[in-house]
Amino acid sequence: MDIITNDNLSIEVIKSKRRKTISIKISNGSVQIYVPDKFSNFRLEEIIKNRTSWIKKKLEESKLNISKPKEYINGEVFSYLGYDYQLKILQDIKPDVKINDGFLQVSTSKKFNKDSIKKILVKWYKARAIEILVEKTNRYANIIGVQPNTIAVRYYKSRWGQCSNIGNISYNWRILMAPNYIIDYVVVHELCHLIEHNHSKKYWNHVLNNYPDYKACHKWLKINGNNLNI
Ligand SMILES: [Zn+2]
Repeated sequence: MDIITNDNLSIEVIKSKRRKTISIKISNGSVQIYVPDKFSNFRLEEIIKNRTSWIKKKLEESKLNISKPKEYINGEVFSYLGYDYQLKILQDIKPDVKINDGFLQVSTSKKFNKDSIKKILVKWYKARAIEILVEKTNRYANIIGVQPNTIAVRYYKSRWGQCSNIGNISYNWRILMAPNYIIDYVVVHELCHLIEHNHSKKYWNHVLNNYPDYKACHKWLKINGNNLNI
């Protein structure tokens, strides 16, 4: 069953015998409400009415979060340090990537395809990531007064960094697509785990002291994180 609100919101209602509570799920631009089997439609409409502005806000956020798979073709937009660059593929002997005149310029040999362009780009992002993240990590480590054991970059599907118990920090290289101030937050976030290996109130206070605007960054990553992908 679908409910269309006065605001033209389309909400799918899913009733279940086993369910005892109500929950609203918003993802990829659609809204579902899960309710117990015997739940009255009148109360359901009332709940939706009360939560319309919240649903709308979340819906907008979820729409921003849909990431389209890349095609690796000329003109396609790629993000680097928060700036958008159009891809320009050049045929050359030596594979190379550089930012030139507002383009993300990839040089590759005559035979290329989606996969080979992606491979060159991933290698480039990773190399830039280790360079930039090592510099930022050392800089903030001095400010905070901590010392990481090792610094590495790798691929994570759904996290931006990790700090092990012995102080090995690894970052998701995809964070390089975010603006500098977001990358800085991720660095401070991981470094503060060298003081507190958890997400306790004490931990967040360390983050706050070293990066007062951290809440906005945290939120930015929630909204835009899925789009930081190639
Ligand atoms: Zn953490």
